[in-house]
This record gives sequence, C-alpha cells and structure tokens, in this order.
Amino acid sequence: MKAVITGATKGIGRAITNIFFDNGFDVAICARTTADLEAFQTELKAKNANQEVMIQTVDMSKKAEVKAFAKAINEKWGAIDVLINNAGVFMPCNLADAANEDAFETMMDTNLYSAYYMTQVLLPKMIEQKSGDIFNICSIASIMPYGAYAVSKHAMLGFSRVLRDEVKDKGIRVCAVMPGATLTASWDGVEMPKERFMTPEDIANSVWSIYALSKHTVVEEIILRPQLGDI
Ligand code: NAP
Repeated sequence: MKAVITGATKGIGRAITNIFFDNGFDVAICARTTADLEAFQTELKAKNANQEVMIQTVDMSKKAEVKAFAKAINEKWGAIDVLINNAGVFMPCNLADAANEDAFETMMDTNLYSAYYMTQVLLPKMIEQKSGDIFNICSIASIMPYGAYAVSKHAMLGFSRVLRDEVKDKGIRVCAVMPGATLTASWDGVEMPKERFMTPEDIANSVWSIYALSKHTVVEEIILRPQLGDI
C-alpha cells in the first residue's frame, strides 16, 4: 500500500506519515528542507527498512515543482492508495491591505493550488484502479473568517466537495479534515499553554480511523476543535 503526504517533515503531516508508515504503507513525502526530509527518512527506515520512503524536495507553492513530484510518484509507483494534501502555510494578513498581495498569493498557491495539481496528476491512476483515498487538510478557517488565510481554506473545502462529487462513483473517497488549533511549528512564538491545543497525533489518529472504515462509508467532512474552543 502506498501513501503520499505533502509537507510531511513537521506537525500534522509528520504525524500522518508516521501512522501510515507504522501500518505498513510505503510513503512518498515532500517538504522544502532537504536535510529534514533525509533525517525523517532515516528515522522511518530505522523502524522498518523493508518499507519504501521516497523523498523529494519540493516547494508546494510552485506549480512546476508540484507536478514534477506527482509525476515522479506516478513513474515510480503507478497508482497510489492514499493522497494526503497537507502542505499549507498561515500568514497573518488582511484582504484590505495591498501590501499583503504577495502573502495572499503564496497562501493560495501553497494551500489550494498545490492540492489541485497533486490531485490532477495522481487521480487518473487511482480512477483506473477504482480505489483510493484523498484527504484534504483544510482548517476550522474553512468555515469561519480567520484573515486572508481563511480564503484559501474555504477554497480548499470547496475543492474537496467538488472533487468528492466528481469521483464518488469511481471508488475514490474524499475527506475534508478541518482541525482547529493544533500544536505545531505553525504556532511558534504564540504564548499559550500547550493544553489549549490539540496534538498532531490526534489529527493523524482521526485520519487513520476514517481511512480504516469499510469502503461502504466515506467521512466527507470532519471538524476537530480544542476542548476549550478556538484560539
Ligand atoms: P507545520 O508544523 O508548520 O509543518 C508544515 C510542513 O509542511 C513542514 O514539513 C514544512 O516543511 C512543509 N511545508 C511548508 N510549506 C511548504 C511548501 N511551500 N512546500 C513544501 N512543503 C512545505 O504545519 P502544520 O501546522 O502541521 O500544518 C499542516 C496543515 O494543517 C496545513 O495545511 C495547515 O494549514 C493545516 N492546519 C494547521 C492547524 C494548526 O493549528 N497547526 C490548524 C488547522 C489546519 P518545510 O518548512 O521544510 O517546507
């Protein structure tokens, strides 16, 4: 079984990679920092040298790099079983301020278009094999205003809903995962007790539980929030 996880060296992507690897999957992972990818690859191979860990340095905000990664996976593996569109970035900014134009474009490229291009390249072979799971890591910001970031995450939820509708009769399940505050590097510098946050492992366990349901059932959308509410 083969899983692809984008933005996989830290946080939620790393926890999801660990859980799929621990359940016997070969994994293909990417991030921008090669040294982090190599270190994580070594860590995973130490757990089980027989499973494949394909790594590629990719900036997911760059269309050509995203497509090259997905094509490399197609060439190496053919059809995959699970695609986790996780890579994403939060940049605090408002829509009204023109100075934020670059940040807004970076968030749209990283949080939305990366998932679109990954899916576009990898989906045809999943359709051919008539099975596959796609998890789109959205956010609580997919359903509430949270700066310009929320635009990209609302769009990601729309992407998930449309994709789900397009492939529901093709054996492909699509799930939009909407976590609230989760303790990762994204929150570096924010002074809050760690108990206020969810853990990346809780998000990963939820994804795994959803994946493990029988193929008769799809969880289309899931909202996870810290017990004490949003931050
Ligand atoms: P994180 O801890 O900051 O980790 C991000 C991962 O993605 C790292 O491996 C990072 O490695 C990689 N990455 C970042 N930008 C990239 C790019 N342009 N190209 C390729 N890889 C990139 O992030 P996280 O908090 O786990 O967030 C993961 C996803 O969950 C995101 O989509 C985020 O929007 C969403 N989310 C997070 C929270 C939260 O509270 N943490 C809540 C809701 C939704 P490099 O830096 O080396 O590239």
